[in-house]
Amino acid sequence: MSQPNIILINCDDLGYGDLGCYGSQANKTPHLDRMAAEGIRFSDFYMASSVCSPSRGAMMTGCYPRRIGFGTFEGFGVLFPGQGIGLHPDEITVAEILKGQGYATKIVGKWHCGDQPAFLPTRHGFDSYYGLPYSNDMGIQASPLATPAPPLPLLRDEEVIEEQPDQASLTSRYVEESVRFIRDQRNRPFFLYFAHMHVHLPHYVAWRFLKTAINGPYGAAVECIDWSVGVLLHEIKRLGLDEKTLVIFTSDNGSRGDRGGSNRPLRGGKFTTWEGGLRLPCIMRWPGAIPAGAVCHEIATAMDFLPTLARLAGAAPPADRIIDGKDIRPLMVGAPGATSPHEAFFYYLGDRLQAVRSGPWKLHVWRDSATVQELYNLAHDLGETRNVAADHPDVVADLEAKAAAMRKDVGDAATGAEGSNCRPAGRVENPQTLTHHDPEHPYLMAMYDLPDRG
Ligand code: MG
Repeated sequence: MSQPNIILINCDDLGYGDLGCYGSQANKTPHLDRMAAEGIRFSDFYMASSVCSPSRGAMMTGCYPRRIGFGTFEGFGVLFPGQGIGLHPDEITVAEILKGQGYATKIVGKWHCGDQPAFLPTRHGFDSYYGLPYSNDMGIQASPLATPAPPLPLLRDEEVIEEQPDQASLTSRYVEESVRFIRDQRNRPFFLYFAHMHVHLPHYVAWRFLKTAINGPYGAAVECIDWSVGVLLHEIKRLGLDEKTLVIFTSDNGSRGDRGGSNRPLRGGKFTTWEGGLRLPCIMRWPGAIPAGAVCHEIATAMDFLPTLARLAGAAPPADRIIDGKDIRPLMVGAPGATSPHEAFFYYLGDRLQAVRSGPWKLHVWRDSATVQELYNLAHDLGETRNVAADHPDVVADLEAKAAAMRKDVGDAATGAEGSNCRPAGRVENPQTLTHHDPEHPYLMAMYDLPDRG
């Protein structure tokens, strides 16, 4: 099979229950619903973290965050502007592998794996970059900070081309940039990583979406995402690339569960290791290769993208290091009897191992600075409401053993385990922010009067 084009769409803080095809009654998502109807929808798909930077680093490298030094960042849960930490230059990203296979590679949108030059996407396998290097609430806002934040930078490759860009029009600009790339690269395999700004707070959305959404600014942001997916799908069809293009849609972590966001029917959300934090929508469409209208209930993860996409491009995943992701092509194409390649999935919050899942069983082992022992059967109790640990000591023992093995391998700050197979994050001396507050600069402050941070 020839190398497919790959479009990977990643949202920010979009929850499990935010799309029509995942049960939302509040948001209208006709394009995503159609994408699911024409492809496969995963019900048990996980990101490796319930917050941005670790989730994204894991997806790019195919590894649990702690394995690549992305559990926490000098005490912070995510990277902040001007921190001297990022994805280690020696890490191999999915973009790097695809580039090595002859793909044109581009990222549009949020990176959040380090804002120092050594850590930018252009140093990690992407030919070009257009977007915000971190979260959209990390610029100048109405909410008071001790020191004025550096203005939000919009980057082209490694150059700041605008400070405090109008967020309401940014998704349109991302779409235009993406369509341009697809057209330019139509005659060779391409990899487009479209990392949305939405639906992270603050919610600045174009008026045309605000006007019709029934779920407030949050719903408008979801519908803006849906529109953008519609444009990309329309474009690949128009160019005759439908059967040559794999499109993947997912989100970096669960919704906060307020302000209109939903992880229903899951418990918890962003910042937690309840299902709502890490279990996300994942839709894949590739006519001719992926069966239409399929639903996969097997465990799959964003870490699987790297080995899976590598194989699709004709490459092997890196063999000189541990990669946690697995090749999930059999699940994607609906191979008869295909089962999850994961014997277990591990839920970390920062550097702490908090839960482990195997099959339908999920055991919570740590929460809020204390050991816990809560067992849930997700097949019967998706909302994690009934702790049945006392009824299944054998299952608890098995999951405890799996957790213990993971602690030895990747570590766990809750128990003090270092982990014998961790690699360091990248570090630079004397880090600088990409922008500096300049009182003479005519920032569009009026556009930034929302105090929301997410
Ligand atoms: Mg996020």
